[in-house]
Amino acid sequence: MCSKHHCLIVPPHILEELAKQGNTSCKKTLNDTHRIFQKRNTILNNLLVREITDGEGDRFVYDSQKRSQQRVLLVRKEGEGATNDASVDKAYETSGFVRDFFKNTFGLNSIDDNGLDVISNVHYGKDYNNAFWDGDEMTYGDGDGIEFKDFASAIDVVAHELAHGITQFLANLEYRSQSGALNEHFSDVFGTIIKQKYLKQDISEADWLIGDTIVTDKFPGVAIRSMKAPGTANDFDSQPAHMDNYYTGNADNQGVHINSGIPNKAFYLCCLEIGLDECALIWFETLKALWRTADFDDMLDVILQVTENLQKEEKVSSGALAAITNSFTTVGLTKVNV
Ligand SMILES: [Zn+2]
Repeated sequence: MCSKHHCLIVPPHILEELAKQGNTSCKKTLNDTHRIFQKRNTILNNLLVREITDGEGDRFVYDSQKRSQQRVLLVRKEGEGATNDASVDKAYETSGFVRDFFKNTFGLNSIDDNGLDVISNVHYGKDYNNAFWDGDEMTYGDGDGIEFKDFASAIDVVAHELAHGITQFLANLEYRSQSGALNEHFSDVFGTIIKQKYLKQDISEADWLIGDTIVTDKFPGVAIRSMKAPGTANDFDSQPAHMDNYYTGNADNQGVHINSGIPNKAFYLCCLEIGLDECALIWFETLKALWRTADFDDMLDVILQVTENLQKEEKVSSGALAAITNSFTTVGLTKVNV
């Protein structure tokens, strides 16, 4: 299970299904996850009460040397040239791209807006089938090559995970039920925005998939999730695209990676109406205005207010509020107190 701020790109329910089918690396990854969560469950509290010191958002890449430990060997830091290790260099490049996107687009000074170091660990564990943000740093396995591969190379994975860090500092959305599904949603939103920027795609070329480059041909699907068509990315993808199919079970921290399909679909629809850049601004300002226990209705209230304000300030187009309203109505989310 995912604890509050241990955010994995491959959700536990997908690893469980693959483990049931006999993939021992997925079983080991699932088992190791629990150990990591226990070790790291005080990080968030430590961070929130820490003394803020201004940094530069410098990158540090460590090689775990296939051990299940972080910060084993520092192999590249800010300003240093390429190594001959593709995972190290990709993690350095992609984490820099994400950091710079948030700085250049929204003026955010690294993940915490105070220049927090951007730390990546690559080659974590043996055949480790996941990547995670655990409160203050990123960690990537190499994948077993059977179901998963190249976690550190995937720009959407890196952006998704670093966005969990940003959410942690801006809104601290609790990682369970609807607030947790919103936490996942914002990571998919910025994961897909940054992926399209990185690949220089416009929205008509984009695939709206999350994690399509980390799955192998043998994996039973094309990606971990689809924002365009939630529930279709793989055989175990149970994401709904409408409130009528809202998941009410207890798995996956009450569906944090499942019900996120609903706002994800609304985001996709809205991008078709007003474009990626206006949506990026609206969603970022909404994230800044949300709080730890916010649910879907709270998000809808906030995003409508944020959009109305941005529209008045002429920072988004005159059709933005209607586009937001229509997109959320299409997935079954409407404002009740109007
Ligand atoms: Zn996540």
